[in-house]
Amino acid sequence: MSDKNDVLVKALTKDGMFRVYGLNATGIVSYVQKIHDTWSTSTAALGRTIAATLMLSASVLKGKESMTVRLNGQGPVGGMVIDADAKGHIKGYIQNPHVNLPLTQDGKIDVAKGVGKNGFLEVVKNQGTSEPYTSDVPLASGKIGDDFTFYLAKSEQIPSAVGVSVDIDGKNNVQSAGGYLIQVMPGASDEAIDKLEKTLKTAPSISSMLEKDPNPDHILDELFGKDQLDIVDHLPVEFVCNCSKERFAKDIAGIGKKDLQQLIDEDHGAQVVCNFCGKKYDFSEDELVEMLNNKDK
Ligand SMILES: [Zn+2]
Repeated sequence: MSDKNDVLVKALTKDGMFRVYGLNATGIVSYVQKIHDTWSTSTAALGRTIAATLMLSASVLKGKESMTVRLNGQGPVGGMVIDADAKGHIKGYIQNPHVNLPLTQDGKIDVAKGVGKNGFLEVVKNQGTSEPYTSDVPLASGKIGDDFTFYLAKSEQIPSAVGVSVDIDGKNNVQSAGGYLIQVMPGASDEAIDKLEKTLKTAPSISSMLEKDPNPDHILDELFGKDQLDIVDHLPVEFVCNCSKERFAKDIAGIGKKDLQQLIDEDHGAQVVCNFCGKKYDFSEDELVEMLNNKDK
């Protein structure tokens, strides 16, 4: 699934003080909303986590590396799992898609309540040859942006600011999804950091910026001023699921003989649904019998 407006922009401020990322992931989050049939609170929680993971991947992964983000704050939406790589590919899953909490007092989707903050944000980085590197931090607020900011500070030792947003209309349609990730470089002055903090407080909302102009360069222009940035790259981002029948066959073949026999005797086959993309894979009775016979070899 790809949408021409789904782009991640990487840039550096001309004074070298900030490394910045801007993202439009409206197409991805809209697609994910449809395949998982998510309701408002779940859509916003999953969409924000997808947006933050895309930018985190872009900022800390290289080459063929990939990461899995797990986030669970014990709130009604349950756990989320997001897989991403350095090339802008992403897929995501949410345990409870049908959560639709009342809006907050200022009329916003109550992501913090939906996610909860009694839990952890865990990042597993697969860097190829070596063992996967796992790191986790307690959730800061369950609002997602704050939680990724805290992860970057604690686990990656990168002072940063992460803002993510998903805007949804009354019919569960995603209007916009995206955000920014700003990393403070070692040479940044206190004045520049103070100025940025003030800007972030008074800037227009991410959704209003994206709905005005889908090009994520626009977000960075709003935050830092036009012509203040050197653009490093524009990376198209897309939802990609790498599931296959062979992959699920391995999972089924891995269950106990008794369970496999039960699937054969009682169900005369099996259907597996991919948690990430919703694709269904059917295994016939004959295929299951063959798996059972192979176990005896
Ligand atoms: Zn899949």
